[in-house]
Amino acid sequence: MLTLPTYADVIVAAERIKGFAHRTPVLTSRTMNQEIGAEVFFKCENLQRMGAFKFRGAFNALSRFNERQRKAGVVTYSSGNHAQAIALSASLLGIPATIVMPNDAPAAKMAATRGYGGKVINYDRYTEDREKIGNDLAEKHGLTLIPPYDHPDVIAGQGTAAKELFEDVGELDALFVCLGGGGLLSGSALSTRALFPSCTLYGVEPEAGNDGQRSFRSGAIVHIDTPKTIADGAQTQHLGSYTFEIIRRDVDDILTVSDAQLVDCMRFFAERMKLVVEPTGCLGLAAARAMGGELKGKRVGVIVSGGNVDLDRFCSLLHS
Ligand SMILES: *Cc1c(COP(=O)(O)O)cnc(C)c1O
Repeated sequence: MLTLPTYADVIVAAERIKGFAHRTPVLTSRTMNQEIGAEVFFKCENLQRMGAFKFRGAFNALSRFNERQRKAGVVTYSSGNHAQAIALSASLLGIPATIVMPNDAPAAKMAATRGYGGKVINYDRYTEDREKIGNDLAEKHGLTLIPPYDHPDVIAGQGTAAKELFEDVGELDALFVCLGGGGLLSGSALSTRALFPSCTLYGVEPEAGNDGQRSFRSGAIVHIDTPKTIADGAQTQHLGSYTFEIIRRDVDDILTVSDAQLVDCMRFFAERMKLVVEPTGCLGLAAARAMGGELKGKRVGVIVSGGNVDLDRFCSLLHS
């Protein structure tokens, strides 16, 4: 039996990250309120340190290291925001960090990870297994492995974003959360069920990678091949064992949206709210817009999960 994290862990995580993570703003848009016919509150994690909510979980997990773990260091595998979150958190805490990244990861992401002081180890994503490389490094050098989502301290840290949102705006009728491996959604679920248990909680995935929806509906974790979608933060192949247990217990439904819907939301955020939001960060709003009439007159929360997108890519997506 897994010991699942609880809202008490989210509260402690909030104390640990205080003064290190930003308390990100909650923004609103009259244009979007009119379009949806609801009051919509955006929790802007694109304005979080290193550009995504992942700093919360990474910093919380590393803060819990004992003296031996701090000395030996942390290892993780990620080509995306978790890599930068671990590298930045580790450098703030004086912990050596090793990041296993595919050799075809964007050069900008590798450079950003190195810029935060992380040691990058490359592997071939077609022939090698990143989890095995991470585990081998952990064993050989006594490093502690912190995976991107399936870890109680990571989940508790991610739950602080929804906690802050509820503290700032009070009760919500519905909350929309992006879903990849489920760290953000399961953490948000802990906060939602503790603070406003009757709020309807939705996870939102890209249509092409609907393993979470299939898992939720079938009651068992579904594995898929790496999905083809512009939402690179949600290209996970399966939920984790901790995240799945919390999601199946606490989440009301999992919805999907198309890449075209994500691009429409990127355009909206940039034009109307002056926000750069990466494709994955648009999942929540895209689902809320698609729901239309059902949200009329309601108070709706949307977690905008991140803003790390190359501007050239941003522009080419808007023109595609
Ligand atoms: C990692 C990530 C997600 C998905 O989070 P999970 O905890 O894996 O579900 C969503 N948006 C952004 C910007 C991310 O970096």
